[in-house]
Amino acid sequence: MPDIDFALSCPVPMGRNETVQLAHGGGGRCMRELIEGVFLPAFRSAPLEARHDSAIVSLGGARLALTTDSYVVHPRFFPGGDIGKLSVYGTVNDLAMAGARPAYLSAGFVLEEGLGLEELQRVVASMREAAAACGVELVTGDTKVVDRGKGDGLFINTTGLGLVENGLSLHPRAVRPGDAVLVSSDVGRHGIAVLSVREGLAFETPVESDCAPLTPLVQALLDANLSLHCLRDATRGGLATVLNEIAVDGGVGVEVDETAIPVTDGVAGACEMLGLDPLYVACEGRMVVFLPEAEANRALAVLRAHPVGLGASRIGRVNEGPKGMVTMKTRLGGRRLLDLLSGEQLPRIC
Ligand code: MG
Repeated sequence: MPDIDFALSCPVPMGRNETVQLAHGGGGRCMRELIEGVFLPAFRSAPLEARHDSAIVSLGGARLALTTDSYVVHPRFFPGGDIGKLSVYGTVNDLAMAGARPAYLSAGFVLEEGLGLEELQRVVASMREAAAACGVELVTGDTKVVDRGKGDGLFINTTGLGLVENGLSLHPRAVRPGDAVLVSSDVGRHGIAVLSVREGLAFETPVESDCAPLTPLVQALLDANLSLHCLRDATRGGLATVLNEIAVDGGVGVEVDETAIPVTDGVAGACEMLGLDPLYVACEGRMVVFLPEAEANRALAVLRAHPVGLGASRIGRVNEGPKGMVTMKTRLGGRRLLDLLSGEQLPRIC
């Protein structure tokens, strides 16, 4: 009998990319690989490895939350918001997810030669308004200009600093089997709103971004003395992606019920038309709350008392396992895995 080589090879090689791909910025599996392969090995530190929305650091006896984010959304103006508003709320929300009281912001602007000054002024005015709305002060900044054709008009980076009360620790590793999973309102609006202007689509029901500060909701939950375990805003990659992050980083299984996840008719219709899954479409004013089941109803009442949390819903629970996985009971009564996508359905969404 001739020797047969049984060395199997995958028909679709999963080769590693030699260059950065758009998917590396999508919040999914590719971005996780980039962080784990490049950034974490270079800068290893306890706050970084906690992989929370903000790093918690101690300085002079105070516990501070520190976070940074860059905004490259295209187009810069969309229904319900603009890059300026996004650059303030996005960073403030990441501070809020650590239970911090946001205090200060820095802003770095990368401007492309030829950008209209009137447009820049509109963006700056929008940032000022957003900062005032969430009680933060923009106290330092930087401006760089790149030559025409070497940028895309305007990119903004903001860094946020906030104060965390002693004893408060909201973290994926604090999530426990038996916890209830709540979402603060309907999901998928931001991504669809940006896409509608980017692609020139007119939907029967216009969709506005949910871009909003989550600070009042978080403060209300803290004031109600609820035993919060973890908060995470559902930005890039949408609800399904952040549930996966918590399942992996918390070492638990998350089970959700599709019928309990609020999606407006406008978003559902647009997603159906475009072949998108609303559970993976970005939000910019929605968060997931993990807390003991016994406190779920009280937390829902607190959320619903606020305009940004009107559509709050209990969407599932945390189980012992399968660890690192998110499963969903579908509308038809079946069960499916809500896996992490490799990239983002819609690039440059924030
Ligand atoms: Mg976040």
